[in-house]
Amino acid sequence: MSDKNKVAIITGGARGIGYGIATCLANKGCDIVIADMNEEAAKVSAAAIAKETGVGALGITCDVTRHAQIDAMIEQTLKHFGQIDILVNNAGICPFVNIMEMDEAVFTKTLDINLTGAFLCTQRVARKMISREKGGRIIFITSLSVNVTGAEQGDYAASKAGMHMLMKSFAIALGPHAITCNAVVPGMILTDMTRHHWEKPEPAKFIKGRVPVGRIGTPLDIGNAVAMLCSDESSYINGVGLIVDGGHQTVCV
Ligand code: NAP
Repeated sequence: MSDKNKVAIITGGARGIGYGIATCLANKGCDIVIADMNEEAAKVSAAAIAKETGVGALGITCDVTRHAQIDAMIEQTLKHFGQIDILVNNAGICPFVNIMEMDEAVFTKTLDINLTGAFLCTQRVARKMISREKGGRIIFITSLSVNVTGAEQGDYAASKAGMHMLMKSFAIALGPHAITCNAVVPGMILTDMTRHHWEKPEPAKFIKGRVPVGRIGTPLDIGNAVAMLCSDESSYINGVGLIVDGGHQTVCV
């Protein structure tokens, strides 16, 4: 199977990193399903990708915490495209609340979306991949927070560290079916999630000093890494986290 004629689902793909991933996979010839909370945004983004790249693209409402919406999204994908080759678990939130002041509801919501959502989507999509017997690729978008954290990222780091081990467990369970599972670990990427922080002069200076390549990352930087791991050439890469951060985490001072 070449990169063309594959079908890829990207959760939270209507904007930010998810949209960058959808664009890169479409540029490789994949048909795209943007599964996002916001129906209007999912449809607009899918239409934009179809127009720009010429692939088939669907925008479907899907809250990754809702079983029924995940099932409906998978059924709609199969009805429209007939197969699923790639799942990218990208949907995520980062509320940035100090862990000592965080309500349980905030903590639970972060885990529900980032961790449980990835579990539910992976298990359901993998069952379809297994019965089709053509293998597949499942990518988990984690974070440098799998290893380091801050007082305002306790919920987020717990969810991402959990996602990393979830990815490894699925890699073991699904490897025998030629379905590989890997994580892409973004560094600092400019999106709506982080814009409030990185567009200020001081953080911009920080990036120049701390990121060896001298710039903040873009959603396409992450999308290109995902596309590489989803290619046929990556069939022996399974259960790893690929850090895409311009070298940021290698700098010690
Ligand atoms: P973003 O700009 O806030 O986009 C997140 C997308 O996920 C939005 O389209 C959002 O939909 C959707 N979403 C939120 N909750 C959802 C749910 N329950 N079900 C389905 N979709 C949902 O964030 P981003 O920066 O692109 O982040 C994408 C992923 O990369 C996240 O997992 C994040 O943790 C990870 N990441 C980001 C960075 C960074 O620097 N930006 C670094 C490391 C890791 P709405 O528009 O409806 O809210």
